[in-house]
Amino acid sequence: MANEQKSRALLNERSIKVLNVEMNEVERAQKVLKILEKIYPKVAVPLNHKNVFTLLISVLLSAQCTDLNVNNVTKHIYPKYNKPKHFIKLGRKKIEKLIKSIGIFRVKAKSIYNLSKTLEKEYQGKVPNTFEDLEKLPGVGHKTASVVMSQGFGYSAFPVDTHIHRLAQRWGLTNGKNVIQTEKDLKRLFPERYWNKLHLQIIYYGREYCKARECHGISCKICTTCYPNRKKPIKTKKA
Ligand code: SF4
Repeated sequence: MANEQKSRALLNERSIKVLNVEMNEVERAQKVLKILEKIYPKVAVPLNHKNVFTLLISVLLSAQCTDLNVNNVTKHIYPKYNKPKHFIKLGRKKIEKLIKSIGIFRVKAKSIYNLSKTLEKEYQGKVPNTFEDLEKLPGVGHKTASVVMSQGFGYSAFPVDTHIHRLAQRWGLTNGKNVIQTEKDLKRLFPERYWNKLHLQIIYYGREYCKARECHGISCKICTTCYPNRKKPIKTKKA
């Protein structure tokens, strides 16, 4: 009897140890994918646009500004102005007036104006569909180019914004060194066919549940599944 009790206790101890083993990053990535797919089976592109050019403009406007704010402004612009030649005709000062409720509007108006001129002059008014050409455009960096390639043209890309950078660290999918590293790590961990949808799912999750100042990795299903032993809040590095 005593022996039976001893072996049962030993078995329980072993089961606890097995349960406490932390998942590796590939397993965590699979869990994240499964949970996000369940919460967001369908995702819409958050920035309203009429064509790839207006998507590019909206992404450019969304730097340091909420998508909601951008959509509220562009809903008055795009019905009338939605091609590079329209913005060239408007000129910088009038573009500034149209977007003045958006942060750093002077810099953005300058980029929109110069960008429109480049597109008209070098690409017959069309948005180019390569990273190389997009990243050469005024005001367009790698993240903006990635969003346009992914959401505008449907190529596989993994745009990493501050939300994705933060969440990937909280989920132990990157060390958060910088956004370039985060993009590399996420592309390595998730199959390419998921990238376009997944980057939006992560953004939606970050906005809804995993906000910058509200949680540090110990409350909801993703972290409690991936890190059952985590007790203390974790710190993340900024993008
Ligand atoms: S527990 Fe917190 S940090 Fe982890 S996924 Fe949930 S909200 Fe984000």
